[in-house]
Amino acid sequence: MKSSFIGKVEKAKRYAQEPQRVTFSGFAAEFRGENSTHQVSYANEKWHCTCRFFAQWGTCSHIMALQQVMASMLPQEALASPEELKG
Ligand SMILES: [Zn+2]
Repeated sequence: MKSSFIGKVEKAKRYAQEPQRVTFSGFAAEFRGENSTHQVSYANEKWHCTCRFFAQWGTCSHIMALQQVMASMLPQEALASPEELKG
């Protein structure tokens, strides 16, 4: 019993070095920006942020920062730019 638990702890340490094993399907976060705090979320393959810039552009500095910080743990569609910013 105890030795199998130790095995799990060892495995967790290895897994923690391999973030690409994890893909977030959704999450919510509080983002403390320079001017104010915003609620950022990702669900059903869509980002959302409570800042004004997001309302107009469909992305914002908060989301772009999270895309960089969490790059290895986000699904491909979460890393794409919104359609209106392409070409
Ligand atoms: Zn924002």
